[in-house]
Amino acid sequence: MSYYASMAKEKVRIVEREVQRTSFVRRVKQLEKRCPVCGSTFWGAKISRYCSRACQNKANYERHEEEYRQIRRESYRRQKEEAGKR
Ligand SMILES: [Zn+2]
Repeated sequence: MSYYASMAKEKVRIVEREVQRTSFVRRVKQLEKRCPVCGSTFWGAKISRYCSRACQNKANYERHEEEYRQIRRESYRRQKEEAGKR
């Protein structure tokens, strides 16, 4: 696929929203995006990838699944050791 073809394909809709922060109002551009985890469309900042924190966590977990399992195994083993000492 050529560079121009890929540019034409990415037709994103953009909205500008006023976001109330604690002390000031900020204008932020938001793009219509599709969440890669649950597949729902949402409006988000340019850098945001997931619709919610839940989906972000899920994606993050899947990326490091083996690590997390290792940590869980490790803590389980330690717990058993601790229990055995008593
Ligand atoms: Zn999602």
